[in-house]
Amino acid sequence: MSSETKTKTRKSRKGSSASETRSFQTEVKQLLHLMIHSLYSNKEIFLRELISNASDACDKLRFASLTDNQLLEDDEALGIWVIPDDKNKTITIRDNGIGMDHDEVVQDIGTIARSGTRAFIEKMEAEKSSDDAGFIGQFGVGFYSSFLVGKQVTLLTRKAGVASKSGVMWTSDGTGEYTISSVDRPDRGTEITISLKEDDLEYAEKFRIRRIIEKYSDHISIPILMPKEPEQDDDAQSEDGTGENWETVNKGSALWTRPKQEVSEEEYNNFYSSLTYDPEPPALTIHNRVEGKMDYVSLLFVPSNAPFDLWDREQRHGIKLYVRRIFISDDAKTLMPNYLRFVRGLVDCADLPLNVSREFLQQNRDIDKIRSAAVKRVLGELRKLGKADPDKYGRLWKEFGKSLKEGVVEDQENRQLIAELSRFASTRNDGDAQTVSLDEYVDRMPMKQKNIYYITAETHSAAESSPHLEVFRKNGIEVLLLSDPIDEWFVSYLTEYREKPLKSIAKGELDLDDLKAEEDKEDAKARQATLDPLIQKFKSVLEDRVKDVRISDRLVDSPSCLIADEFDMGGNMERILKAIGQDAPAAKPILEINPDHDLIKRMDPESETVEDWACLLFDQAALAEGATLKNPGEFVKLMNRLLIS
Ligand code: ADP
Repeated sequence: MSSETKTKTRKSRKGSSASETRSFQTEVKQLLHLMIHSLYSNKEIFLRELISNASDACDKLRFASLTDNQLLEDDEALGIWVIPDDKNKTITIRDNGIGMDHDEVVQDIGTIARSGTRAFIEKMEAEKSSDDAGFIGQFGVGFYSSFLVGKQVTLLTRKAGVASKSGVMWTSDGTGEYTISSVDRPDRGTEITISLKEDDLEYAEKFRIRRIIEKYSDHISIPILMPKEPEQDDDAQSEDGTGENWETVNKGSALWTRPKQEVSEEEYNNFYSSLTYDPEPPALTIHNRVEGKMDYVSLLFVPSNAPFDLWDREQRHGIKLYVRRIFISDDAKTLMPNYLRFVRGLVDCADLPLNVSREFLQQNRDIDKIRSAAVKRVLGELRKLGKADPDKYGRLWKEFGKSLKEGVVEDQENRQLIAELSRFASTRNDGDAQTVSLDEYVDRMPMKQKNIYYITAETHSAAESSPHLEVFRKNGIEVLLLSDPIDEWFVSYLTEYREKPLKSIAKGELDLDDLKAEEDKEDAKARQATLDPLIQKFKSVLEDRVKDVRISDRLVDSPSCLIADEFDMGGNMERILKAIGQDAPAAKPILEINPDHDLIKRMDPESETVEDWACLLFDQAALAEGATLKNPGEFVKLMNRLLIS
């Protein structure tokens, strides 16, 4: 319904109202085309969408009327009326909520800026309707879904608190244009009438519609009313929709207010799916009633799969906040921190004032307490699952691990617990699956090992094939292989676990003497003296590029590697920062050379080629850790010179 481009404006005079015909924005046309031609079998979701909009409109009015009582006019009982009409082949959905004015109709309704709609179109484009729009239901495309079943849709609306002459009528067949005009409309709120396509006449049947409402909208707390089956066929519905010819068809019993022993798994799952549109049941359902200083109920779900917008930081759903069953806000960060943004659900609090403002929510200590308890509960349940069902936990980790790891940075209070929940790839296992916990690692550390060793790299294969690992492999010491960008932050915030320091194997001195075989230690000392002239030479050649050159005790097969000084930023972190456009303070690395490698053994510090060799060993080491060379052409020339020398 939103239109950026106004290609054509026909003004007609009909009574006092002018009507304009506007063209849909290209993306809207695309979406409508999909809706109209969809073979999607689950078209019934259009009703869920329109009822959900109507319910939101009532919630908004109730909230606004707390500060401006006039808005309710004389019509205080909020409701949603659903009227299937098989004679006229239509279905009408009406609410007496907040309504819309002319500009809101043009701009708000189904604007394509909604992330869900955009993501939907992108996905449809990407998959080229290979599975027949099977995910329409999952995305919840809002108002547009009325075109799944409608050949013509008419919307009448009047905003709360404005004069009845400021009503708006919008109508379209969904192909390319819509018409908008002003009308006189005494009733506040919005009424949508859908003329059904010939194939979709089932949606004019009362019985069918009732079943759909029970299925998707039973929990909506605003009454949903339908015309009663007339006992004698002369019965007509009362004009104002409140008379005895209407019956409420939703239970509206907020499921969360019931004791958890009385709610079946199926009910929880249905509720979850009506809340999220996720076709999969949740992995965890966490339902608690808290009584004491604050009385509240929380019902939280951890989904089985990551939502499509997990990384879309701006547009995501928060935990809904209710006060005594009245919806207040779903502002994303109020009740869950960013790293738990995949958690869905609600909190219903008995003790907050109804007219809470956004600022109030952000600064309120009671809200902070609820939030902190909710976080502890989610983390606690994840921990239980990790112990009770490692496979299921592993699947969740795969979906949400990257986001959960952000918690080590964000949430100081729960840092150790989040570390306990984290899983990593390790040299003990093949492949990149993140399955090893820090507890497992520490439990199998040899007595003499002091540190938890890890390496960070841009990809798992770069980590796995890093020369830094050689001495660890040789001596059977386990190393965690970290290749998610967040890992660099993770290890800079989590410096120890169970009193064992986390140590990068690509930084500083290793001090592995206790863990190495005796003969290796002797050898290293003996060679130190003989290599001194070569090291001095390398230092002078590479003066501008390295902080130091020294003999390595981490290499076995490779001739050289680069390491960062103990407190300097590693190469990987430097590359990540550059990639996200941040300045990385350039710290020079240390070049380590392998005294046992034939190349090093054969090298003569007095030879003509020694300068080239120094540069080659440096460049090789940079390549091995995943860096790109500053001057690749020079590197090729250098290598060729050495090959023919
Ligand atoms: P969504 O509801 O997910 O935002 P829609 O396309 O269904 O997406 O609706 C877009 C906007 O139009 C809503 O956010 C709301 O502002 C407005 N709107 C839709 N239906 C109604 C209604 N029944 N009453 C008032 N406003 C509505």
